Amino acid sequence: MTLRVYNTLTRRKELFESLAPGKVGIYLCGPTVYKPSHIGHAVGPIIFDAIKRYLAYKDYKVCLVINITDVDDKIIAEASEQGRSMAEIAAEVEADYLKCLKTLGVTGVDAFPRATENIEKIIALVQKLIDNGAAYAVGPDVYFDHTAATDYGKLSGRRVEDALHGTRNLTGENKRHPADFAVWKAAKEGEPAWDSPWGRGRPGWHIECSAMSMDLLGETFDIHGGGVDLIFPHHENEIAQSEAATGKTFAKYWLHNGLTRVKTKAAGSEKMSKSLGNIRTITELLEDFSPETIRAFVLSTHYRRPLEFSDEQLAATAKSLETFYRLFDRIERATGADVYADGKPIRKLAGQAQTDADTAFVNEALAHRLKFHEAMDDDFNTAGAIAALHAIAAAVNRYIEQTQLETQDNETAKTLAAAAGVTLVQTGRILGLFEAKPQAKITETDESQIESLIEQRNAARKSKDFARADEIRNQLSEMGITIEDTPGGTIWRLA
Ligand SMILES: [Zn+2]
Repeated sequence: MTLRVYNTLTRRKELFESLAPGKVGIYLCGPTVYKPSHIGHAVGPIIFDAIKRYLAYKDYKVCLVINITDVDDKIIAEASEQGRSMAEIAAEVEADYLKCLKTLGVTGVDAFPRATENIEKIIALVQKLIDNGAAYAVGPDVYFDHTAATDYGKLSGRRVEDALHGTRNLTGENKRHPADFAVWKAAKEGEPAWDSPWGRGRPGWHIECSAMSMDLLGETFDIHGGGVDLIFPHHENEIAQSEAATGKTFAKYWLHNGLTRVKTKAAGSEKMSKSLGNIRTITELLEDFSPETIRAFVLSTHYRRPLEFSDEQLAATAKSLETFYRLFDRIERATGADVYADGKPIRKLAGQAQTDADTAFVNEALAHRLKFHEAMDDDFNTAGAIAALHAIAAAVNRYIEQTQLETQDNETAKTLAAAAGVTLVQTGRILGLFEAKPQAKITETDESQIESLIEQRNAARKSKDFARADEIRNQLSEMGITIEDTPGGTIWRLA
């Protein structure tokens, strides 16, 4: 099966062919660390982590890099507002970001380079641009000369005249042309700064990504990713300066994910932004939804489409995941097999089919498994892939009913149903789903019930009714709750 990806650079789906056989380098623009992470920060990493898993499944050795922008106007502004240092804010927000990604199962990132730790490489790249005549210093500022990129605009399809609207930080009064952009900025009094041949200053945002991606992945690498809102000017400028420095193609495939939009009842759909006040942090979301729910929600939409984010959508995803969890429990009850543990998938046990019903079931499961791969091969269509997982689940449920597996002894059917469950888990893991059994979560109702039982137990103990006290302890234990009597009172926790 061949993989095709939509390349923003060529505006069409192309056959994916890695630059070096068996190896893929991916660079994804990461966060500017100045506020706690919200869902928008996790969308790209979840998508590209799933892409990496799929490429790894296809036997590629993948290196995935996500940068951390830890020096920027926004962080400096936040630091001065809080009366703290930029480094302090950046470190704190980065720690929150990394913790959120880990919780969400984004485990495939090989490097998180920080801009502040790559200043020397950035300066070397700026110097190279000056040497090539593609950048010029005006006092302590250095600008990229947009005319050095003869094909400037090739990614976004914008012309230079349009480019004037998108330039960030138009502070430099001395640049030759408004479309030129800063690659090195002089520091203002009291701002974080590094020594450079042009004076004390800091890197521009675009140059960071060029320097760190080429450092870790080579001057030409396979896939550059990011949100569609970064195409212009950020990615356009990354291409212009990287290619002006090396004379080589910068990235072969450009993959852009859609915007995350927040659906609110009042406003319909609106772009997620801090000024609209419609943002909840990932940490806050995780109080209401499991990491697997958030991950499955992000992957339930094809990455290029806008992601409509709402609590209702997340709740719907949680419910659809329950279908799988109930099936896995059902398989375990009917066959004794734990599908989360290692087991043989159905394609390895297809030969065990005996009846027509067995054969039809095996074929159906295998057909849906194939659909999963076809969807992923079609520009990483994770939405189609998840639909195929649901189709497998529905087939297993039907087969369990058809063979009356819960009441009848049928060794073949047990083997095949368990194998289909294993297939489902192993296939889901290609997307980072079903890594572990879902953890039981204590709801508010459970909590008040637990506390009421503990009170009853304490009352029973006070009146020396130890049989009743033990009975309640057992009841709690069956609920998965362990209790401990301390001088300060009884404490409980989920076992
Ligand atoms: Zn970038």
